[in-house]
Order: sequence, then structure tokens, then C-alpha cells
Amino acid sequence: MKIGIDAGGTLIKVAYVNDGYRKFEKWPSTEVDALIEVLDSQYAHDELFLTGGKAEYMAEKLNQNHGVSIEFDATYRGLKTLMHEQSVDLDRFVYLNVGTGTSFHHASPEGQERVGGSGVGGGTLLGLSKLLVDIDDYTEIIQLAETGNRDAIDLKVHHIYGGRPTPIPGDLTASNFGNVMSGEVAALEPADKLQAVIGLVAETVTAVGISLAEGYDTTDIVFIGSTLLDNKVMQEIINRYAGLKGARAHIIADGEYSGALGAIL
Ligand code: ATP
Ligand code: MG
Repeated sequence: MKIGIDAGGTLIKVAYVNDGYRKFEKWPSTEVDALIEVLDSQYAHDELFLTGGKAEYMAEKLNQNHGVSIEFDATYRGLKTLMHEQSVDLDRFVYLNVGTGTSFHHASPEGQERVGGSGVGGGTLLGLSKLLVDIDDYTEIIQLAETGNRDAIDLKVHHIYGGRPTPIPGDLTASNFGNVMSGEVAALEPADKLQAVIGLVAETVTAVGISLAEGYDTTDIVFIGSTLLDNKVMQEIINRYAGLKGARAHIIADGEYSGALGAIL
């Protein structure tokens, strides 16, 4: 069996691959030593391939042979495979890996290049949620956010124009959290704040994605990373925002495993 491991800042993604068989698994990065023990004891005779920010750490501690590949190359190989399987066959596109932070890439028939990064990502989602409503469980955050309403928190373009004609769609966010100063905050529920946090992350990364897509002459923006996982609020905002700007968002299923899968390829 071949085992690909993408050891990221928050989560370690593992892909077990054998002929037609494929299984994906996640571990919290804080449990990296426990994973190393499992690999050394139960998978000593399998082929191991590492990538990601914590790959070097794992490489030092593992007692078995392993390959190491560059994160951005591995992720691109895995992403192309998943895209093909999901019939998202694009020649030229930009893609966003919304992990702990976010990294931006441009893909063309010549390959991929990393064209930017942002500290706003899944870590921001968790960190701001913890600070604002004292919840740090990812699943709890995304589920509660679905029941919220961020209208009283975010300032929309039409709020500023006060009913007069707007030069851009009035429903676009003019300022994330920018409506807080106009009052009404006493009635806000944790769910509303969580939805606004996700809105901030989703709109920030999508805005960059849209600008990059324009610059690279494409309308296709591909999204991967565990921050999208079961995250209906985030996915809805991405799709709507991209659509408003005439771009197409492609959210790849299992996209967070691109690096783990690509490490093997
Ligand atoms: P990086 O690539 O930046 O080093 P990473 O590879 O660990 O980080 P991802 O796994 O793609 O990043 O995404 C991490 C984010 O996914 C978290 O910050 C959080 O918002 C979200 N997430 C999804 N599921 C979980 C989970 N079970 N536990 C913690 N965070 C989760
Ligand atoms: Mg990662």
C-alpha cells in the first residue's frame, strides 16, 4: 500500500492507496506523534510519502523509509487528479487552498505557480470564533453559523448609498463588520457573529481569487482546503460572490486531500 501524508498547520491529511482502493483520514496536527507511532508500528512495510509544513518534522521522527515532496507540487498533482475524476477539466484557472492560511495559485498547461498568500484562512475562522463567542469546535461553529444572520454586522453597499442608485451591486459587502457601529448589536446571537466571521474569510479570499482570475484571463476559480469542509455558509458565499462577478467557483470534493494524494503520484 502507498500512504500519502500532507501534514499541515492544523490537520494532517492521510491517503491510503492500493490498486483500486483509496481511503482518506484526518488527524489533528497536535497528534502528530501518535500518528508517527501508528505508522511505525502498523504500516512499517508500506510506502510512505510526505508533504506539507510539518513533513520535515515527521521525516526526522519516522523510523521507516519515506519520500518527501514539495507541498505546492504535490497539491497540484492531487488536485488535477481529483478535478479530472469530478469532470472539472480546465486548462487555465486559479485555485485557492484555504487551509490554516490561504495560498493562491495560477494553473496553466505549463503547470502551477504560487502567486500569493493571505493570513486570512481557516485559522482565522477558528481564532475569531473563539474570541467572539468562545467556541472552538469547527463542526459546532459551521453548524451554528448556518442558523445566523449577519445583516446587522456587515455593512452593505446599499446601506451606504441609502436607497440611491449604486455603481456596483448593492448587496455586496462594503465593510465586513462595518455595520456594528450603527447599533442593534445587543440583540446579536452567537450564530450571527459566527456567520459574519465565515463571511469575512469567504469574501476576503474570494475577492483575491476574482482579481487573480481577471488578471490571468480566466473565469474559473477552484477552491480546496479543509476550511470548506461541510461549510455550507462558506460555500454559499463563495458561489454567490463569484457569480456576482461573472466568475465560476468550483469547490472540489475531498479537495483538502489533494496534497496527501499528490504526494503519492
Ligand atoms: P496549512 O496548509 O495552512 O499548513 P492545513 O493543511 O492544516 O494548514 P487545512 O487542513 O486545509 O489546513 O484546513 C484547516 C482548517 O480547516 C482549520 O483552520 C479549520 O477552519 C478547518 N477545519 C475543518 N475541519 C476541522 C477539524 N476537524 N478540526 C479543526 N479544523 C478543521
Ligand atoms: Mg495544507
